[in-house]
Amino acid sequence: MKDNFRHHGLRQQLVDHLVEKGITDKNVLAAILKIPRHFFLEKAFVEFAYQDLAFPIGSDQTISQPYTVAFQSQLLQISPHDKVLEIGTGSGYQTAVLLELKANVFTIERQKELYEKTKNFLPKLGYQAMFVYGDGYKGLPSFAPFDKIIVTAGAKEMPNDLLRQLKVGGIMVIPIGDSKSQKMKLIIRKSNKEFTTQTLGDFSFVPMLPKKT
Ligand code: SAH
Repeated sequence: MKDNFRHHGLRQQLVDHLVEKGITDKNVLAAILKIPRHFFLEKAFVEFAYQDLAFPIGSDQTISQPYTVAFQSQLLQISPHDKVLEIGTGSGYQTAVLLELKANVFTIERQKELYEKTKNFLPKLGYQAMFVYGDGYKGLPSFAPFDKIIVTAGAKEMPNDLLRQLKVGGIMVIPIGDSKSQKMKLIIRKSNKEFTTQTLGDFSFVPMLPKKT
């Protein structure tokens, strides 16, 4: 597949649209301008890659809408070398954005097929992350604590294991709600025991798959 000036032009239009919708983080916008989102989609949807829409990526899952990716990424306020835990690798597009922001990314996917596919695909584009096949509800205790945690599937409730794995001063973004609609929650760990939570608008993610026992 090619990435040519036409794709670049479409990405610029997408970036302009994201700015109109309120995204201001220059590094996030630069990442979206750079990453060939059409490489992350199945053939049937490649033509629509730069519309602000979610698309199926197989295994009943979707690649998040660019606005949602930009919104979550902006909330994380990534600094270079931040240790970031991502739940829901999916197509790897959000992972690529985090990597463009120079984060150190640990990403967990619960579906074997998607895990295999993205683990093989992202390094071909030059993106290196730590790919984990596992249950996002449990996080990655052996690599904790994390500076930032991002959940890209809708959770029914706050996963306590993930809160525990957040550094003091760290930020977590997670959509919480039912299978149709969720509220974006921004959590900051103020101290060992103290967390603040802000609620930031409605989103529609695929549901986070139940906890494996
Ligand atoms: N960030 C992805 C979004 C994928 S959709 C992208 O940009 O493409 C959400 C993903 O979360 C799906 O791939 C789904 O399989 C995965 N997922 C759902 N429940 C999970 C869980 N409990 N642990 C890890 N991954 C999970």
